[in-house]
Amino acid sequence: MTARATRRATPVIFKAGCPQCRGSFELGADALRLVVGGTTRTTFYSFTCPDCGTAVRKPAGERIVELLTGGGVSTLRLHSAV
Ligand SMILES: [Zn+2]
Repeated sequence: MTARATRRATPVIFKAGCPQCRGSFELGADALRLVVGGTTRTTFYSFTCPDCGTAVRKPAGERIVELLTGGGVSTLRLHSAV
C-alpha cells in the first residue's frame, strides 16, 4: 500500500448550516457543489446535510463564489443553451 501523494488544492473546510434540522457542520470541498448562472438568482451552492440528508441550496454571492471556486469546489456554469 502506498499513499498517493496527490497535492492539488489545499483542502478547505467550509462551515455550513442546515435550515431543516438546524445542524451546523463543516464540509469539505467534495461535499459542496456550486452552480453559477447568469444572474445572482441562479447562482447558488448546494450540499446535502450530513445529519438529516436534506438537500440544502443557498444563494451564493460573488465573494462566496470566489471562496468556493478557490477552495476547489466543483463548479457548474450554466449557459443559456441553444
Ligand atoms: Zn439537516
